[in-house]
Amino acid sequence: MSTALLQGKFAVVTGAASKRGLGKATARLFAEHGATVAILDLDEAAAKEAAADLGPQHVGMACNVTDLEGVKKVFEALVAKWGQIDILVNNAGITQPLKTLEIAPANYDAVLDVNLRGTLYCSQAAIPHMRSRKQGKIVNLSSVSAQRGGGIFGGPHYSAAKAGVLGLTKAMAREFAPDNVRVNAICPGFIATDITGGLLTPEKLEEIKLGIPMGRAGTADDVAGCALFLASDLSAYVTGSEVDVNGGSLIH
Ligand code: NAD
Repeated sequence: MSTALLQGKFAVVTGAASKRGLGKATARLFAEHGATVAILDLDEAAAKEAAADLGPQHVGMACNVTDLEGVKKVFEALVAKWGQIDILVNNAGITQPLKTLEIAPANYDAVLDVNLRGTLYCSQAAIPHMRSRKQGKIVNLSSVSAQRGGGIFGGPHYSAAKAGVLGLTKAMAREFAPDNVRVNAICPGFIATDITGGLLTPEKLEEIKLGIPMGRAGTADDVAGCALFLASDLSAYVTGSEVDVNGGSLIH
């Protein structure tokens, strides 16, 4: 690595304990670029283990992003410990492969809550601090599913939640741009992680690849690279954008 893009920065990545996930890859790349990272996830032991993987200075904490009081406490603890939070990556997310008529109230609540409410709550916890320092970068994980009307493993409620994330991203970007808090979204296409819940067969993968002009599934590192760009000063004049990381599967 030639240049450390996040030297001296402090970053929070939600849902980053999943071993093959986008959050973990992002946290790792941020750490490689000099950032100190807090990994938040549902399971405390898994979060701590993921943080320890990155090095001793990193922090792993239990945090359910749908629990407003819990989220506030975690962010307060991090500001107390570090004195600053420069970057927030709202990565925690879940999906369910349901059709419209199958979505029960509990399905709707679960998917909207983690993807959309969680993004709002963590942003609300970080922004007052970022605004007071007149600097901050928020990166939200949306999805190609929001843009094209359905993904591969996500139902319509997931598309709606991720479209909600895009709306929230753009509105927050507009609201906090005067405070030098930038907010952007990443729209990944198909990335083989554990979010597919074991539903990805070799046949299904071949079928998916036929719809991707670049001819391969994305990797977690493909998404991490984009998150690094949006979290660093390389993107100093970028806010309210949705960046596609999809191998050409949706060109619009
Ligand atoms: P993953 O399932 O590997 O990881 C998601 C993590 O979120 C898990 O560690 C899980 O424990 C955590 N989590 C779930 N609910 C939580 C909650 N309430 N509070 C805190 N953490 C919680 O998923 P992934 O594929 O790495 O996905 C990361 C993000 O990228 C998600 O928002 C997902 O919707 C989005 N995304 C993924 C893909 C893909 O193809 N993998 C495509 C587009 C968007």
